[in-house]
Amino acid sequence: MLIEKLQRLGTAASWDSCGGVTQKSVRKSGIPPNYSSFVHDCSASSEKCRLMKVLQTNTCEHDCRYCVNSTCSQRKQSLEPKELAGSFMSLVRQGYVTGLFLSSGVGGGVKKAGENMIESARLVRKKYGFRGYVHLKILPTMPKSQIEEMSELANRVSLNLEAPDKTRFSELGSTKDYRRDLEKRLRWIDKLRGKNLMKSFTTQFILGAGGESDLEILGKMSELYGKTQLWRTYFSAFEPVKGTALEEMEGERKIREHRLYQSDWLMRVYGFELKEVKNALNEKGNLSLQRDVKIAVASGMPEKFPVDVNSAGREELLRVPGIGPVGADRLMKAREQSRIKETRQLKACGVIVKQALPFVQLDRESQMRIENFCT
Ligand code: SF4
Repeated sequence: MLIEKLQRLGTAASWDSCGGVTQKSVRKSGIPPNYSSFVHDCSASSEKCRLMKVLQTNTCEHDCRYCVNSTCSQRKQSLEPKELAGSFMSLVRQGYVTGLFLSSGVGGGVKKAGENMIESARLVRKKYGFRGYVHLKILPTMPKSQIEEMSELANRVSLNLEAPDKTRFSELGSTKDYRRDLEKRLRWIDKLRGKNLMKSFTTQFILGAGGESDLEILGKMSELYGKTQLWRTYFSAFEPVKGTALEEMEGERKIREHRLYQSDWLMRVYGFELKEVKNALNEKGNLSLQRDVKIAVASGMPEKFPVDVNSAGREELLRVPGIGPVGADRLMKAREQSRIKETRQLKACGVIVKQALPFVQLDRESQMRIENFCT
């Protein structure tokens, strides 16, 4: 039955992140409960949208040791392009989804798998005239011509690097070459960005399955943000799946994803350099799971604080815990009117006062000693 296929292929797509997935509003919005495995709320760019998120097929010829699609332990299913496009458009017409996220196992060879995905997206765009959000997953080893076709059909594409380098990647499987099948294709995508419909691309790392440190991940992210137009990075904490080669391995803690998302935000949105974020790492190159990353970074650079909120530049303000881009801009505007002397003025600008106080100086007075502050 079609619904069973969608459920199975939706569940199989759950390891691919597309940002801010929450099922709460899906439950509230009257969408049938048995759609919950393939209908998800996601944040695509700054806008929220609701996606149908599925694999075209869960058959795969690769041997990724963490992935259930590499095994025979689950029932293999595929959606024909017509079935996929028709199901999606039916959900659009019922008002249940506003976009499509399509990934796939590499079943029947990468060319065939790519053709099916492209045909599905083409039907959605050309036959049904859908103009909304489409996110297509680029498959490892996919030929350049197919990547180009996908960039003409999708608003966003993604290619999962999974590991920060070739050595760590070799821990995860043996059939893909990190440099040729992934990094090279990421460079192709980078060159295509903005030339066709595709305006952004993302990548994802699996955490904990390859024994990598946070420093290795942060180093790779910094390299990608520096050298390419990568829009953002996603993380997926490893969870052992029955029937896979890593079924006995311990799962990664979810909080590690959160700490790396905080670091990503600092580097990508606040403009922190890798050398600054390194202040938050322990001797093994890992972030504390207990401590907010921005507070840990600031505490590791006591020579830079306290910052005088009445004279500091935007970049200095952004380095204060509890002050984000909006808060920094409001503070700069507010101090043109009058000096900032009291914590209530900070609060009025949207500053998280409890976090900021140990790191700021108000009217030449330091508010709290950093070493007396713990979070
Ligand atoms: S390429 Fe690897 S991760 Fe992707 S579906 Fe195939 S086995 Fe799973």
